[in-house]
Amino acid sequence: MGAPTDKIPKTQKAAVVRDKKVAIEDVPVVQPSDLKVGQVLVKVLYSGVCHTDLHAQLGDWPLVHKEPLIGGHEGAGIIVAIGEHTDTDLKLGDRVGIKWLADSCLKCDYCRQGYEPLCHQAQCSGFTVDGSFQQYAVSFARHVTKIPEGLPMDKAAPILCAGVTVYKALKQSNARPGEWVVIPGAGGGLGHLAIQYAQYMGLRVIAIDTGAEKQALCTKLGAERWIDFRQTDDIVKAVKAATPDGDGPHAAIVTSASGAAYEQALDYIRPHGTVVSVGLPPDAKVSADVFWTTFLEKQLKGSYVGNRQDAVEALAIAASGRVETTFRLLPFANLPDVYAQMHDGSLVGRVVLDLWA
Ligand code: NAD
Ligand code: ZN
Repeated sequence: MGAPTDKIPKTQKAAVVRDKKVAIEDVPVVQPSDLKVGQVLVKVLYSGVCHTDLHAQLGDWPLVHKEPLIGGHEGAGIIVAIGEHTDTDLKLGDRVGIKWLADSCLKCDYCRQGYEPLCHQAQCSGFTVDGSFQQYAVSFARHVTKIPEGLPMDKAAPILCAGVTVYKALKQSNARPGEWVVIPGAGGGLGHLAIQYAQYMGLRVIAIDTGAEKQALCTKLGAERWIDFRQTDDIVKAVKAATPDGDGPHAAIVTSASGAAYEQALDYIRPHGTVVSVGLPPDAKVSADVFWTTFLEKQLKGSYVGNRQDAVEALAIAASGRVETTFRLLPFANLPDVYAQMHDGSLVGRVVLDLWA
């Protein structure tokens, strides 16, 4: 693992995306003397693999990323250098997380109101700037998040995107303790954490995903109802029937990367309920019947990652032991395989890469 005072090498291993293909390569390490004001150098120990990284590699979103690109935005590591004249409380050796939102201006309307992901100057780790799929990543002092003592770094990594995102999405749903939330995608990286944050907030959970392994995980994590989307003909009927009064859940947190999961959400949500869209399938559309959406006061809300405070809160809850990442720890070199499994939907929970294995 090494102390922060270890010599910083000139080259490192990184997963580089070019022309929609990923390969592990030797690339230069940005040296401390080359850091700009506000930047830090993080020795990345672990990085979660998010479905967003796969969207970036495939280039399937209507957004442009840098090329060549080093992906990754669930990084956990230690500060090994700080750019000269940077105004920060961070110290060498601090344990920090690199999240999707690498930087934002902190001065605009959006930043001032805590909507940092909407800042026009936002930089995204593993998308507009190189991310955590490298052993030494440059990040930004004002946006890295301290990882609480006692929370192991490998377990912390997926909280930096999956955890923060679903925690914030649940807050956006305005669901109250005792109410029901349905989570399509519940057996995946975001979904399995959403089950746990939901319970932390006093909510009762209906999980939707597919296969015995994901069912076992969702049930173990506390989902009270399970619906297998591949074995259910009428999802709307099944979701409504899963709530005690048959009116449907108060909220849906859609964490699936497939558009199909969105198709029925506004139909099964309870009157006055909220569908929170989190999963980002390219080219998917939600169609809402205007009469019934209005008449039954249904709401559809987009929710995009979280701000610095959401990250601190999500990590603190994980450090309390009430939310725990279920993950397989794999060597860095396995990233291309992990993408293949993610693509065919066979990953359960999260994969965390050991950058030094
Ligand atoms: P994942 O692959 O780990 O999990 C997705 C899960 O959805 C899988 O378990 C899959 O079986 C399940 N699924 C597929 N089709 C389904 C259906 N029709 N109904 C119910 N479940 C279905 O992916 P992940 O890393 O959890 O990411 C999920 C999505 O969220 C991706 O599109 C990702 O880009 C997006 N994301 C959005 C934000 C945000 O800020 N809004 C943040 C992070 C990730
Ligand atoms: Zn992510």
